Amino acid sequence: MDGQAGLRQGLEQRRSARLYRRRRLLQSPQAAHVVVDGRSCINFSSNDYLGLANDSRVLAAFARGAETFGVGSGASHLVCGHGPEHHALEEELAAFTGRERALLFSTGYMANIGAVAALVQRGDYIFEDKLNHASLLDAGRLSGARMQRFLHNDIAALQRRLESCPGAASKLIAVDGVFSMDGDCAPLSELALAASRYKAWLLVDDAHGFGVLGVNGGGLLQDAGLGQREVPILMATFGKALGTFGAFVAGSEELVETLIQQARTYIYTTALPPAVAAATRESLRLVQRESWRREHLQFLVTRLRLGAEQLGLALLPSNTAIQPLVLGDAARALQVSEKLFEQGFFVPAIRPPTVPQGTARLRITLSAAHSEGDIDRLLQALEHCAS
Ligand SMILES: *Cc1c(COP(=O)(O)O)cnc(C)c1O
Repeated sequence: MDGQAGLRQGLEQRRSARLYRRRRLLQSPQAAHVVVDGRSCINFSSNDYLGLANDSRVLAAFARGAETFGVGSGASHLVCGHGPEHHALEEELAAFTGRERALLFSTGYMANIGAVAALVQRGDYIFEDKLNHASLLDAGRLSGARMQRFLHNDIAALQRRLESCPGAASKLIAVDGVFSMDGDCAPLSELALAASRYKAWLLVDDAHGFGVLGVNGGGLLQDAGLGQREVPILMATFGKALGTFGAFVAGSEELVETLIQQARTYIYTTALPPAVAAATRESLRLVQRESWRREHLQFLVTRLRLGAEQLGLALLPSNTAIQPLVLGDAARALQVSEKLFEQGFFVPAIRPPTVPQGTARLRITLSAAHSEGDIDRLLQALEHCAS
């Protein structure tokens, strides 16, 4: 079989397993109400949890940034791409998260790969929750360290693995703060205790908690009252609640300087456009100042969960903006998602290998931009399509 025929066969297998992925066209700005493939619908698929991706003030900051600094950053941070907007954003992130320093990365995927590789190498150990985001799992593999995956949120299983590895080896525990396809949270206080007992690093990827949780949006770590001492490596992204693009790692002076020297995904890539950093600075101000966004989101989460319970729809246990409805096989998840789309609701079907076999689901995400009415209409549609 030639190469093309092999590809064709692989694609056909995917299609018949109902695992084929295809992109829809978003024809309006990111918002609660969008136009997708020519159809107006209510959007329950976005990670723009606070409704900031198209906020006029964030947009204005972006435009001012572009007028002042142009579009492209021109080079990596270490060559000539590091400007005042980047620098100020790093300082503001360090202050906001209560860490000594913060370092920008162009994406969250790259931040995880860079941070993990700087801390563990061949001969070392990395411990990861089975449901960690793909970027953390890939980071573990690429690092060359011995990868130990433990059952989801199972501290006893993690401790057994820590126990059985050589005391002198470097160890890193890496977890999602809020799990991206399940919406539940890692038991951070217990993880921090285990990390300190076994002298392991602890890295928390708070992509889905940052901006959303905590009294002023400081994320799951703020919510749990954990500082740099308990969680020495905090990673979070701007592409979700902050509504922009990019990511950062925060921690000690030594950690950040080590990343600047060694993280290949930091060194060998073009810096974020300065206008994106400017927009993110404005977004960070709004996250802190407009706590009504978090309060409204929480209100909507409660409303959805109560309504679903009344309909006998078992959402996974989650009190974050991610509210999954597990449907079982991929074909069923796809069918329900398509039916909802025909009725004007954009709710994606998440299938293996993104989630384990037999747990294909609708991943419903809520946003502060939704109204009560949006939630009620979704519940009516779910009653028709999914029960
Ligand atoms: C989205 C996400 C990432 C990747 O961030 P990008 O900036 O989109 O590359 C990493 N970790 C988690 C948990 C995520 O949800």
